[in-house]
Amino acid sequence: KSKEILAFQQEREGSIVSYPRNMPIAINRAKGAVIEDADGNLFLDFFSGAGVLNVGHCNAFVLEYVKEQQEKLVHALDFPTENRTDLVRKIFEQIPEKIRDEFKVSFCGPTGSDAVEAAIKLAKHKTGREGVIAFHGSYHGMTSGALSVTSNVKLRSRISSLVPNISFIPYSYCYRCPFNKEAASCKLDCADYLRYVLENPHSGFGKPAAIILEPIQGEGGTVIPRPGFLEKIVAIARAHDIVVIFDEIQCGFFRTGNFWAFEDAHTFPDIITMSKGLGGIGFPISAIIYNKSVESWGPGDHIGTFRGNQVSIAAGNGAFEFIRNFDVAQHTIEMGAYLMNRLEQLKATFPCIGEVRGKGLMIGIEYVTDRTSKTPAPEMVKKIRELCFSRGLLFEVGGHYNNVIRFLPPLIINKVIINNAMEIFESANREVMA
Ligand code: PMP
Repeated sequence: KSKEILAFQQEREGSIVSYPRNMPIAINRAKGAVIEDADGNLFLDFFSGAGVLNVGHCNAFVLEYVKEQQEKLVHALDFPTENRTDLVRKIFEQIPEKIRDEFKVSFCGPTGSDAVEAAIKLAKHKTGREGVIAFHGSYHGMTSGALSVTSNVKLRSRISSLVPNISFIPYSYCYRCPFNKEAASCKLDCADYLRYVLENPHSGFGKPAAIILEPIQGEGGTVIPRPGFLEKIVAIARAHDIVVIFDEIQCGFFRTGNFWAFEDAHTFPDIITMSKGLGGIGFPISAIIYNKSVESWGPGDHIGTFRGNQVSIAAGNGAFEFIRNFDVAQHTIEMGAYLMNRLEQLKATFPCIGEVRGKGLMIGIEYVTDRTSKTPAPEMVKKIRELCFSRGLLFEVGGHYNNVIRFLPPLIINKVIINNAMEIFESANREVMA
């Protein structure tokens, strides 16, 4: 049945369809961390619909919020509702109390890209400047503005008319340090590079409106910056009067065990983008949280029909309550530690695993031909993924060289699920590296 449905899709839908190429299943239903295909085969979902299903597929607790809301009100543009007020309150509770009143929230269109567009536009509006600085390995979306700040050259190269004045600088990618530093000699040269390009008139960077970065890079290969990196970037940007945008679309909403991935950094950006997990069980929604100092547009300056769908908002409210009631944040940290430990054991056995890195349940496993040369091993990753798929484990692959296996399971996974997944994963690694 799956094959039939896939064939129909291939025939009728554009070749743009992407995920079923690597994970060729037609999905019938899903619950928690388990997906059932059209033939009744079960798959463990360590992908979560691209990092969306933090509370798990069709979470029963969240579904109650959805059902109640859809009987009551679905579409209300940006008219206020109690439902909307509740979600805004919940988001604001996540901002440290002493700076809470400095911030505002705006719902954007339904996708993460919409939030990125709004954030960039707001920064330009505020500063009256054009340029934006982004990072190597970044992913911010597929609409013109968001794609312009996405570093993947392959994705951008065929379109010459994207947003101009975008520059990319190295991220804090310690496993492949762009400045060739070891931990002991590192003085965060990567962050200092921002100062260099801003202050050197020959760099051609001029004075940009904004700098945008993911506090943990997702598609770029689950790259976790060195402690101090985010603080330093913010400090340098502030000293140059540049708006700082943190893209929390993938790493946010408790994915790391904190509401925001940047929380341990003791700094706060001017704008935060959010989406994915905010819609609870996969309802589309996005938002920006921004400092009042960048508020520069008036009513109607940035409008849209689908900004803050009431069912998505209710699902977000349900997800917040579920996470609080069942202490999912702590659970995420515990399950993350358990999974990381299993992966570290695997790394000790297989020399082609160059690095295992993770925070909470945002985990990356980087494959190399050998640990000395660190030559990326994307073919190996492809084979491991295919074997895992055939045995019922789904995950995404990313990284600058497509050599990073990315685990983004629902945060509600337990040790039994992890053990099952690791059994599949270990056997695939053993077979490919035999
Ligand atoms: N920013 C980040 C960090 C993302 O991971 C993504 C999606 N993978 C986006 C933005 C874009 O979101 P969307 O696909 O919903 O437009």
